[in-house]
Amino acid sequence: MRIWAVANQKGGVGKTTSVVALGGLLAERGKRVLVVDLDPHGSLTSWFGYDPDTISHSVFDLFQHQGKVPDGLTAQLITETSCKGLSLLPASTALATLERKMVGVSGMGLIISRALAQIWDDFDYVLLDNTPSLGVLMVNALAAAQHLIIPVQTEFLALKGLERMLHTLEMIMRSQKNTLSYTIVPTLFDRRTQASVKSLNQLRKSYPDTLWKFAIPVDTKFRDASHAGLTPSALDSETHGVRAYARLLNDLPSLTRARSEQQHG
Ligand code: ADP
Ligand code: MG
Repeated sequence: MRIWAVANQKGGVGKTTSVVALGGLLAERGKRVLVVDLDPHGSLTSWFGYDPDTISHSVFDLFQHQGKVPDGLTAQLITETSCKGLSLLPASTALATLERKMVGVSGMGLIISRALAQIWDDFDYVLLDNTPSLGVLMVNALAAAQHLIIPVQTEFLALKGLERMLHTLEMIMRSQKNTLSYTIVPTLFDRRTQASVKSLNQLRKSYPDTLWKFAIPVDTKFRDASHAGLTPSALDSETHGVRAYARLLNDLPSLTRARSEQQHG
């Protein structure tokens, strides 16, 4: 099982869209895929037509057992989606209360790792969608993941937010004694705007080793899709946005490998 987290401390940069697109494409290629919504806003959950305000079972249930995950619980919380081969572990808005409740409970940073260990043979890929705020949910995602995808919107000040994210990442990895490889993915790229072109050049200069060499373009199909509850398989796969995600998917294995070889000398 491969576990990828998609995170950035900034909202609206394409995290949820990346999870849906990559998850949908992997499922289309015949992989068994689980997408996990770790954002109290539940955008990923809504995308698949579930209401995070009223949903009865969600990822929240995993955190209700004093740091343990009862046998079989994870599988019970997973639901099918309209996309064949793609399953969802949904979020509920109750997740927003987690931070307050978890103070002083030990083992809370490893709940998602433990939950995924229970379903290790059931999926080929797990994609973790994250909230922008640094807290127990993001700590869980970073502890569970083998690779991190950091979408960065190509706009002015993109670098600032990214530096903050990488600083946070280092801090967490130090405390977890964990090294996580990552790939920075430029998103919402519009070649006609100065802001997009300049910030992409800047990213290339600042992060030559960890930046994906292409970018995800602005594609209005994605905006439409999030409202219609559609996945990429329901989209015209020839749109340039979906094509860019397919290219990213092809590049990721070599990116993750190169990175971990560097880390291990
Ligand atoms: P995040 O999860 O980081 O908050 P989202 O994936 O929800 O970001 O994207 C924010 C908004 O931008 C959504 O309305 C989404 O539909 C839109 N969006 C994301 N990626 C693209 C894209 N490549 N082209 C056009 N719109 C996009
Ligand atoms: Mg999101």
